Parts: sequence; structure tokens; C-alpha cells
Amino acid sequence: MLMFRGILTRVIYFLRALSHLLYPDLCIHCKKSLQQNSPFLCYACLSKIDLVKWREKEVHHLLQQSVNKPGLLSSSVLYRFEEGNPVQTILHELKYKNNRSIGLYFGSLLGQEIERKQISSSIDALIPVPIHHRKRFDRGYNQSELLARGISSITRLPVKTGLLSKIRNSKSQTKLSKEERRENTIDTFSVSNEVKKYTSIALVDDVVTTGATISAICDVLREKNENLQITIFSLSIANNIS
Ligand SMILES: [Zn+2]
Repeated sequence: MLMFRGILTRVIYFLRALSHLLYPDLCIHCKKSLQQNSPFLCYACLSKIDLVKWREKEVHHLLQQSVNKPGLLSSSVLYRFEEGNPVQTILHELKYKNNRSIGLYFGSLLGQEIERKQISSSIDALIPVPIHHRKRFDRGYNQSELLARGISSITRLPVKTGLLSKIRNSKSQTKLSKEERRENTIDTFSVSNEVKKYTSIALVDDVVTTGATISAICDVLREKNENLQITIFSLSIANNIS
């Protein structure tokens, strides 16, 4: 029996190696084969989107400006979003291809960055930017919640999904001007009274484009809890944010 198991293990190992040789894992963006320890994106694609070249203070300043709300406690953003760059491919997989593991994976990378900056100890809870319940039903999940769960797997911060909800299914933001985006987010979100219990929360988003959504959420959160400290964790930020 033991010998049979040993042979079986070797056969499975051999078949796995063979299948990797025939069908190597490919980069989701450029379709070249992936190196070890780098799932989803190859090093070349990762280097195109990495914000390492940007100084952290600049990214935070950019966010602060775009959200236009005083007192954003801190922020962590991993990548720079541009039309057609690898971040767009990540977001497409995350939102439209039912690729849940990509959300958990990149969330865990964001979690590592948060740990590196040692900012999680000042935060009570992670709040994913919500999507409308109809969209959630169609998609089967909220992509920002997957990112938050990935962050939580590293930081151990609790993910709170019941605090904030999207009550109005606003138009897609992609084709709207900055002003139209701000109007589009009015009366869109609702906050539960439970938020009064918290002194500091982190909003988790997949991409910050104009900052209109985050800005609207900051407003409704502070209507209920005016001294609430807010941190932003986002997978990406648009380059041309202003
Ligand atoms: Zn690639």
C-alpha cells in the first residue's frame, strides 16, 4: 500500500511537471511565461506599474488633493494605473473574469506593503468600497472586498462589510467628466450607526481615478462620526489624477 502511494505521488509529480512544460503559466498581460514566485504578472510587466519610483509622500499628496478632504490619515497604493497598462488587465480579470484569487493575491501584496510601513496598528477595521447589491449579485462578489480579505490575511485587521453600502446604482464613471463624477456620487452611499464605535478605519479600493467615490464616502462617514480618521488602501491610482 505504502509503495503504491509512493508511486502514485511520483506519477502525479511527473504529470504536473509535464503539464507545466506543455502549458506554462502565462503572464495575464503580455502572455509570456511566468517566472517562479511571480504569479499573474511577469517581472517586466510589474516593473512598468510599480510605484516604487514615486515617492510615497507624492502619492499621498495626490490622493489628498483628489479626494479634497482634510485629514486623510495615511495611504498605501501599489500600482500606477494607465489606459492599456498591466493594471488594467489585473482590474479586468478581477472585475469581469471571475478571477477571485487575483484579488486575494494582490490584496496580500498590499498587506505586505502596509506591514512594511507599520501603519496597521492605528487602524480599527478595513471597509471595502461597496458596489450596488445588484452588481454584486451579477458578479458574485465585490472586488474591493477580495482585496480587503487579502490585506487582512497579512495584517489581521477585521474586514467590515456591513458598515457601508451603495444604495444607488450610479452610472459607470468611465465616460464622465470630473464634475459629472462628483454629481454622480451624491446620495449614493449609506452608513450604519455602528461606524460611531470606530476611531480609525481604512477604505479599500481597487482603483482611484478622480477620487470622487472616496470623497463621497468620506463625507457620509464623517456625517455619522465627524472625528473618524480615514486611511486609503488602493491597489492602484490613475496617473493623471488631478
Ligand atoms: Zn508580462
